[in-house]
Amino acid sequence: MLEKVVIANRGEIALRILRSCHELGISTVAVYSEADRDLKHVLLADESVCIGPASSADSYLNIPAIISAAEVTDASAIHPGYGFLSENDDFAEQVERSGFIFIGPRPETIRTMGDKVAAIRAMQETGVPCVPGSDGPLGDDDDKNLELGRSIGYPIIIKAAGGGGGRGMRVVHAEAALLGAISLTRTEAKNAFNNDVVYMEKFLQTPRHIEFQVLGDGEGDAIHLGERDCSMQRRHQKVVEEAPAPGISEELRQEMGQRCADACKKLKYRGAGTFEFLFEDGEFYFIEMNTRVQVEHPVTEMVTGIDIVKEQLNIAAGNGLSCRQEDVRLRGHAIECRINAEDPENFMPSPGTITNYHAPGGPGIRMETHIYNGYRVPPYYDSMIGKLVAYGETRESALARMRVALNEIVIEGIKSNVPLQSDIITDAAFMAGGTDIHYLEKKLGL
Ligand code: ADP
Repeated sequence: MLEKVVIANRGEIALRILRSCHELGISTVAVYSEADRDLKHVLLADESVCIGPASSADSYLNIPAIISAAEVTDASAIHPGYGFLSENDDFAEQVERSGFIFIGPRPETIRTMGDKVAAIRAMQETGVPCVPGSDGPLGDDDDKNLELGRSIGYPIIIKAAGGGGGRGMRVVHAEAALLGAISLTRTEAKNAFNNDVVYMEKFLQTPRHIEFQVLGDGEGDAIHLGERDCSMQRRHQKVVEEAPAPGISEELRQEMGQRCADACKKLKYRGAGTFEFLFEDGEFYFIEMNTRVQVEHPVTEMVTGIDIVKEQLNIAAGNGLSCRQEDVRLRGHAIECRINAEDPENFMPSPGTITNYHAPGGPGIRMETHIYNGYRVPPYYDSMIGKLVAYGETRESALARMRVALNEIVIEGIKSNVPLQSDIITDAAFMAGGTDIHYLEKKLGL
């Protein structure tokens, strides 16, 4: 097993990683910014190292500082969590070059999958279906681009090859707006991702977002853990996730899951990953792969009984996968509500001190959070402060448990989106299952 792991992240995921490490008898090193001294996992870690000031650029994105922390603590591996440096191929490469194990895929895999155009090409080669589109970067020839637009048919979405986090996308409804949208997205992509490559895809009108969880041992063995439905989104950001996806047959699940696992076998994929698809009229269309643990991984853990973070640690240690495909069984239903420190009306972040916190509980309830009474939510980072997960034997019972838990949770001193989550969870269409990715924005009147 690994001996000592540096947790290169903060908040709930850092705590989640720490727990799995300690379960496996692995020592932990928390690296934190000056604004994060009071984080729960920093207090619980075996060792901790301050890596810089509050600003992410100077701390959680500061590669030399994180690698030095691993050196001074004599750690064996680095877990990047999600966000921050988790999908940064340069980071993975520098970690490995410095003699540490990177808990994630090989740097080349991250590089390929981080470029959405390259990822789509790789998927086409392995037989995973993609959204009809330009099948490559757009050039500077206006006439060609107009022709391409006509052949795909409007509406169209222009996407940045290097985009992420819901940024670098622009929908075009008519030909007159196409060329302007291409150059605008290009400029934005250049500024935001230092990569001006853009491509074109058909904009699907009422798709659902369904993604498959995979695990690969890096040697050519890989399995899938079924799918999650993450269609409840605002500004391309997920708000509620569930597993399994309502209405997906066991046959379709196995067919698509197997295609994803086969793609991983071909890539000799190492670690945990997610294939994201849009699902419309019974068809799946690949949009991108995430080469890290996802925020929403707990819903898959609840229905499979597999600890995804432990799998990551085991794979990184060279122990391979803990189970075979035929051992993976889905049971029951799990729903996750992201809990954000934000105003539920206008979505403005609401940092500050939590004066009163009571966690919900009871059968099937799992609260993943780093907050506690008196904890001060800093204004510098993402507003997500936790995830409330409800499990039930059926979707109805998971929904009922979630409703009760959202009523029970108390977070005072700051504003949270708990009222919004209560609204969503009791919404008739959501309760029926299968709402599309535009549903929440329509419901909110956006
Ligand atoms: P990111 O890397 O920023 O998360 P994705 O490619 O995963 O970007 O897309 C994020 C979201 O944008 C999707 O979940 C979906 O809501 C929307 N989206 C992306 N591509 C399309 C498309 N071709 N048609 C309709 N919606 C899309």
